[in-house]
Amino acid sequence: MARKKKIEYHSYYEGHLRYMTCMVCGVYENVGESATGVKCSKCVNFSVPLEQSKGYKPTGRPAGWHWRKEFVDKDGTVYHLGKEQPKLKGTLPPTKFSPPKKKKLVSKKSKRRTKEQMLVARHKEKKVALKKAVKKQKDFINHNINKG
Ligand SMILES: [Zn+2]
Repeated sequence: MARKKKIEYHSYYEGHLRYMTCMVCGVYENVGESATGVKCSKCVNFSVPLEQSKGYKPTGRPAGWHWRKEFVDKDGTVYHLGKEQPKLKGTLPPTKFSPPKKKKLVSKKSKRRTKEQMLVARHKEKKVALKKAVKKQKDFINHNINKG
């Protein structure tokens, strides 16, 4: 069994500044003393969508679909325990399922939204009240001046 080698990226000092090669494109980046691997700002920005696509690939299939005895994809592809059955493709109606996770998320979001809306409404009320108070004060002052 091959042992995993710890990769050490090339670094050098220029004065008291340490530079290390970007682990993606090899460009030298100014780094701290303890850095063992660095990505330049370009590669950091570039790698974000890449890592996102690596993490979650929406297949449109329910979680654990490949454990089902029989699962028919939207395009009619039939799977038996996650194994494609090309001969059966198009012979069965697509398996219907409802994604429960998404529903929960939506309700959470809408709850949060109503809370925000409440806060906004309260804020508006306060503003109106403040305006009224200011107007009252102005009226009071004007009244006094007119009187005086
Ligand atoms: Zn880079």
